[in-house]
Amino acid sequence: MKTNECRLVIFDCDGVLVDSEVITNRVYVKMLNELGVTVTLEDMFERFVGRPMSYCWELVTDMLGRPLPEGLIEEYRVRTTAALEAELKAVRGIEATLDALTAKHVPFCVASSGTHEKMRTTLGITGLLPRFEGRMFSVTEVARAKPAPDVFLHAAGRNGIAPEACCVIEDSPTGVKAGVAAGMTVYGYCGLTPAHRLLEAGAHHTFSDMRLLSTLLL
Ligand SMILES: [Mg+2]
Repeated sequence: MKTNECRLVIFDCDGVLVDSEVITNRVYVKMLNELGVTVTLEDMFERFVGRPMSYCWELVTDMLGRPLPEGLIEEYRVRTTAALEAELKAVRGIEATLDALTAKHVPFCVASSGTHEKMRTTLGITGLLPRFEGRMFSVTEVARAKPAPDVFLHAAGRNGIAPEACCVIEDSPTGVKAGVAAGMTVYGYCGLTPAHRLLEAGAHHTFSDMRLLSTLLL
């Protein structure tokens, strides 16, 4: 789909706009290891990426086999914020992609499994926040998390654009499934997840370098 058909580009946040997944999941692994649970970064990518926090904490509770220790979620929030502030970068090439969309008058927004607070933190650290003011949508605003289509349909509806005229940029199988379920054209960005897994999830196109996206879209 080229831009004459794509009237709104909806970006996922983590792993698409900002390189947060390795940083946040490394904190998860360290905290779980400290609690005596043996997990690897690869396990986390497989099971946690693209999911909302509430789902992740249910998984952690299952892994622990007991209720979460008091204060654990707050400790995770503090440790991830510190790690993000120290290390987080925008995905390479995303600024040029957004510049190209702006030049062609193609509107864009972000629709994330994260909260508004998390988006403001990560987009703020990387300097992307001014580009997304008033254009941020969170699963906290809708009934069902990805892989349900709710947050993408919500973003399209708020922009007054029909779902079939929207393009979704996603990096996780869960997010790709949500975009497909919304009836949108899905571009799978192969940051952490290999192309074949995004295609299996239903992605219509895949690409491995964000700098190529504008040539795919425009
Ligand atoms: Mg993602």
